[in-house]
Amino acid sequence: MKKEPVLDQCCGGGSIPTASSPPSPFSFPPTLLAASGRALARALARFSEIDAVTEYNQQKVLAAFITHNVSETHFAASTGYGYGDRGRETLESVFAQCVGAQAALVRHTFTCGTHTLAVALFGILRPGDTMLCVTGTPYDTIHSVIGLRGEGKGSLRDFGVTYHQTELTPEGRLDLPAIRQAVRELRPRVVYLQRSRGYTLRPSLSVEAIGELAALVREARKTQDIVLLVDNCYGEFVQTAEPCQCGADLIAGSLIKNPGGGLAQNGGYIAGRKDLVELCAYRLTAPGIGGEVGATLGLNRSLFLGLFQAPHIVGEALKTAVFTAALCEELGFEVAPGSLDPRYDIIQAVRLGSPEALTAFCQGLQSGAPVDAFLTPEPWDMPGYDSQVIMAAGTFTMGASIELSADAPLREPYAVWLQGGLNFHSAKAAVLLAAKQLMDRGLLNNL
Ligand SMILES: *Cc1c(COP(=O)(O)O)cnc(C)c1O
Repeated sequence: MKKEPVLDQCCGGGSIPTASSPPSPFSFPPTLLAASGRALARALARFSEIDAVTEYNQQKVLAAFITHNVSETHFAASTGYGYGDRGRETLESVFAQCVGAQAALVRHTFTCGTHTLAVALFGILRPGDTMLCVTGTPYDTIHSVIGLRGEGKGSLRDFGVTYHQTELTPEGRLDLPAIRQAVRELRPRVVYLQRSRGYTLRPSLSVEAIGELAALVREARKTQDIVLLVDNCYGEFVQTAEPCQCGADLIAGSLIKNPGGGLAQNGGYIAGRKDLVELCAYRLTAPGIGGEVGATLGLNRSLFLGLFQAPHIVGEALKTAVFTAALCEELGFEVAPGSLDPRYDIIQAVRLGSPEALTAFCQGLQSGAPVDAFLTPEPWDMPGYDSQVIMAAGTFTMGASIELSADAPLREPYAVWLQGGLNFHSAKAAVLLAAKQLMDRGLLNNL
């Protein structure tokens, strides 16, 4: 499809850019720029809080690098079995310290977040065990791991693991009385919690709320045998503490989200209690060898660099989310969370209200991507979804959602979920292009 150019041919009309009125190579209409200015003014109050968290987390990560004497020799490639890869071992110790865990597995051989969570679940659960999810229906791709639908071949159900869930309250909070009762009656081996909102409109959970749950679980069943496992995707470095510091036993997530800092090219992590991390390592490789093998093939440097950059990149993604919320509020849309609400993950939902608006927004956002801006996303029938989905992603790493991206299923409530942004200024331009697309197609009533 032929696309309208989004760039002015002559940047700034030949005048010299000044700091007070920087010209833009994009022709944003004055009314949109005015709305953007108002949105930014409101967002700025949150930006200083985000900066404070970023600074704390950056120092925490820096201190971990210093404590473990990270050195250039750790970037060397290992091949074959990868025995004694000091870079890999050091990276895992640094990572564990950053998230307040006893031990960690940080591996490029985790193919994605779902694989990582599956390794954690299969690593801990045994036939006859029960898994209790306390955040309602989990993230879509975990359904087939559990065996929630279909034949369930190879799923936990197939291996004799029973699954139960408690629902969130109507306000989207943990239903503590129901959880207490379920923990007592079902005696689950794993209590599973999803920190992020995922692609729902429920609020994400704070580490404080996770701490409250951990205390309740310990109180309801006084045994080490119960494992609180947190799907930590999209939550890393958003607050100053991580779930393991508040009583979670194990956390798992993807390296092409927050903790990879936009530089990890793939991979995942599991961190927490040492004995549990070891069980997961046995599942990832083989019983006996566990985490002692795993050639790093020259990827250590980008994993170290990505972890080092992660607090900053998460800060940029959070600023992008807050600005998007504030701008969309200016444009008259309902957003979740609101621009001034507390945030516990990097996801921003915007209720755009119609399939046309979802398509315009995603196409506009794509036109502002550093990679593949010339492509036009269209709604398609994605496997596993009961409606069409449109996605915008112009990323350096395929599917990396720490880079600016958006997904929207074409069904009620016609909301788009946006996340990521490697740097705020670039992501802001893309969000403005998304808004401009809505304007150009007559889908904004109040500009
Ligand atoms: C991304 C994500 C996953 C894992 O998804 P992958 O696409 O396999 O990396 C699991 N849970 C949540 C909440 C997520 O955001």
